[in-house]
Amino acid sequence: MNREQKPEQGEVVIEALRPFGTSIFTEMTVLANRYHAVNLSQGFPDFDGPGEIRAKAAEAILRGPNQYVLSYGVAQFRDAVSRKVKRFYHLDIDPDQEVTVTSGATEGLCATLLSILEPEDEVVLLEPAYDSYPPVAAMARAKVRYVSLDPPDFALPRERLRQAFGPRTRAIVINNPQNPCGKVFGREELEFIAALCAQYDAYAISDEVYEHLVYDKRHTMLLTLPELKSRAFVVSSTAKTFSMTGWKVGYVIASPVLSRAVRMSHQFITFCGQSALQEAMAFAMDFPDTYYRQLLQDYTRKRDRLSDALFDMGFKVYPCDGTYYLLADITGLGFDDDVTFCRMLPEKAGVAAIPCSCFWKERRAGRNLVRFCFCKEDATLTEAIKRLRRYFK
Ligand code: PMP
Ligand code: GLN
Repeated sequence: MNREQKPEQGEVVIEALRPFGTSIFTEMTVLANRYHAVNLSQGFPDFDGPGEIRAKAAEAILRGPNQYVLSYGVAQFRDAVSRKVKRFYHLDIDPDQEVTVTSGATEGLCATLLSILEPEDEVVLLEPAYDSYPPVAAMARAKVRYVSLDPPDFALPRERLRQAFGPRTRAIVINNPQNPCGKVFGREELEFIAALCAQYDAYAISDEVYEHLVYDKRHTMLLTLPELKSRAFVVSSTAKTFSMTGWKVGYVIASPVLSRAVRMSHQFITFCGQSALQEAMAFAMDFPDTYYRQLLQDYTRKRDRLSDALFDMGFKVYPCDGTYYLLADITGLGFDDDVTFCRMLPEKAGVAAIPCSCFWKERRAGRNLVRFCFCKEDATLTEAIKRLRRYFK
């Protein structure tokens, strides 16, 4: 999302999408490629997930069938989601009625929002908000009420949140852990949100794609709040947990009634996901706890390494409790505009990052903040640190 871009003359785009322009992730990856920069912008690993998962997918493709699957997903995958939710959150989920497989969490969010929002409904977004939420709300012709979580701790501003709810509020989207600020919502904060949803008869949509990247705290899956059983949609993805962002295998968990709503829009967006990839990810989700622990250990080390290095260079680095992103303040280095900074960095320093003002509606907020991802090989991080040190010395 980049609100500074104007549509080219003669470009065809509906009014609702005009403010958004090209995604900031595309813009920064294109820049990184142009200058052969180390790409710490768009959040994808520079290594692939386990070979056994890829072998399963290859085997499934060769064996076949390679045809449409059930619109709401391959049974094996839905069963595996149900087992994983039981293992990690002690929650019983009916794989037939409460899980819908989507093309990544991106489609899961889109299908969910399009299935519940009527024109003029209001949806509450917590800033810094992930880039796909506002345009999807716009496509549904809904209105967004923004509530900013502010540094240094990104605590839930309870009074402002209460004021953002009203008779037209249809839903709130929570991103837990939150990209790009690394915040992990505690149970109490989620209970506060749940109470508002009950009071205003609204839905809560929780984007939990980084659920297995929670470092020093515990992840609270939204559906473990009993009061949200009939109001919550939990959207997740296999992209980050199994380091395969290009596969786009995501899912939505919700009560049978709410799942029927998601399935209604999902069937007309993509109809169904990819059969072989769902089968392979079903296998992956059953990996033993040691896999999940190792992933967390590796990312903890990478996080601490990059965070220490950025701090030594003069960035103010915020704590990252979850996700694989570090938020860094550029003020101490003499910069005051994140977009200018990130457009300059690939060419001048040979490293790419994401400007964070794009995650706020009013770009005034976040202008001092940039995001570096650390989901990279150690050698890649070494090279990025070396280049940044050289530039900022
Ligand atoms: N939500 C958030 C907060 C994200 O950072 C991302 C990027 N992975 C997505 C959703 C999209 O996930 P997927 O690649 O599964 O569509
Ligand atoms: N979620 C990724 C990020 O935050 C980007 C995914 C995308 O490009 N849509 O960097």
